[in-house]
Amino acid sequence: MFRNLIKIGGCLGLLSSSNVLCNQIKGKNQDDQLPHYHFLNDHDLQKLQKKHSNLSIIDKSYTEHILSVIRDVQTDIVDFRKNADRLIRILIEQAISQIDKKKHIKQSPLGYYDAHELKFQDEEICFVSILRSGNAFLIEALKVMTGASIGQILIQRNEETSQPAYFFQKLPQNIKDQQVILVDPMLATGGSASMALQILKNHGVKEENITFLTLVSCEQGLGKLFSEYPKIKIITAQVDPILLKNINYLAPGIGDFGDRYFGTVKTNKAQQ
Ligand code: URA
Repeated sequence: MFRNLIKIGGCLGLLSSSNVLCNQIKGKNQDDQLPHYHFLNDHDLQKLQKKHSNLSIIDKSYTEHILSVIRDVQTDIVDFRKNADRLIRILIEQAISQIDKKKHIKQSPLGYYDAHELKFQDEEICFVSILRSGNAFLIEALKVMTGASIGQILIQRNEETSQPAYFFQKLPQNIKDQQVILVDPMLATGGSASMALQILKNHGVKEENITFLTLVSCEQGLGKLFSEYPKIKIITAQVDPILLKNINYLAPGIGDFGDRYFGTVKTNKAQQ
């Protein structure tokens, strides 16, 4: 995909910043013309969270090392997967922390205590993956909630029009009664996520029962989803400052998450 990205960039005659990104992804261009992207500062992040009350951005002390590793173009598949899984696990635990708990008394080996346990059984939870990249969440999801159901929706971006196109869905029959955790690692324009949310709504899922997990997002994508589905919750690890026009990639971004996680592109190490 990195190669395709570079090719697409060439065909479309993209802005020089995009071409520089391509070179950066290839890891060959070490000259001074590479852009240095700066993340949103605390003030900007507070403004964003004030604007979108259902948005949670994970405290950076948990995520900054992990994100720094997976963004790095030199990171090989082993470290990429290991660290992506760690970040995914943090997002899943954050989603669980927002689910209502029931309080009851339980017994430890030494006495009684107040237990606060999830109001829902695993079977009442459904993870819905936006294929292909969303599937990266499923390994960690099933470690935490082994009895949860899994739904899948295949939406792919048409490379020429940049518009999302729907291909396939398989969702549990009782999904309207479940708490739904929709997963896709990268939120760029929000086109695919918006289509997936509409499919969930068409199946009777209430917006307030949906949490969308995305590792890296941007203001444009967040704005689109919250304007169309104001009652959903979104949890993200970081909000990137730039959505690159024409190729709709985040910057500094991660590159093509699916290719890096599933090993469908050669890493720099493999090319050496
Ligand atoms: N999908 C990706 O894999 N990366 C991006 O930057 C945007 C969408």
